[in-house]
Amino acid sequence: MTTARLIFLGSGDSQGVPRWFCRCAVCAEARTTGRNRRHRPAMLLELDGARILVDAPPELRLQLVRHDIDRLDAVYLTHTHNDHVGGVVELYDFVRWTRSPLPVRIPAPGLPALLARYPFLPAHLDLAAIDGPEVRCGARFEPFEVPHGKNGFSHAYRIDAAGLRLAYVSDALDLPPALADQRLRNLDLLILGTSFWREEFPHATRSVYDVEEALALTARVRPGRTIFTHLGHGVDATRPLPPGHQFAQDGLEVPLP
Ligand SMILES: [Zn+2]
Ligand SMILES: [Zn+2]
Repeated sequence: MTTARLIFLGSGDSQGVPRWFCRCAVCAEARTTGRNRRHRPAMLLELDGARILVDAPPELRLQLVRHDIDRLDAVYLTHTHNDHVGGVVELYDFVRWTRSPLPVRIPAPGLPALLARYPFLPAHLDLAAIDGPEVRCGARFEPFEVPHGKNGFSHAYRIDAAGLRLAYVSDALDLPPALADQRLRNLDLLILGTSFWREEFPHATRSVYDVEEALALTARVRPGRTIFTHLGHGVDATRPLPPGHQFAQDGLEVPLP
């Protein structure tokens, strides 16, 4: 049995909460008690002492300092939107100054866009595309393509270790039932992005599940438990969820399994 723990370094959507230019009720609450205050999304997975980062958002440095993390063993990126890679330079500086090797993996379709934006990364990072499962730190990481609404496609990860089956699906919408059944069945934990409770914008303009749609998905694939992350100002995390579901929060630590 693997000793594992998750830390949600960031639980927000692409703009964070509060949106600095917004005075809605959730953004107002985020400025006060802070239950809804969120940095952009990232997750740290600790596996038998190894530390694996999933995504590198713009606030990555603040997130690592907050949790007193001074070392990473590997990084898996989902896709090249700013909220997922805007802090990747912090990884470059870690390797540059500590001379520690750091494998950084991104699903193959995202590598050209990452290099176009950060052409200097290969000079220090062990940066490579991943297009199938790989075993690292005792766990099996497998990326899979997911529909991302108006944005086309993104990627998610299935992560399997001894006694632990989880999936990280931060940016997805309208998973075909066959894909959901293939990738998301038999999970101990599903981590799923939900930017709004009910998103009222026209469906063709959308890119991430809302909470109501996400509950329909979990009713189908029945994970042991579900944590919603990638939460926008359309989600008030003080609202109750059905049993087996919870909202992530910046700094939330989850012992596994
Ligand atoms: Zn995102
Ligand atoms: Zn707002």
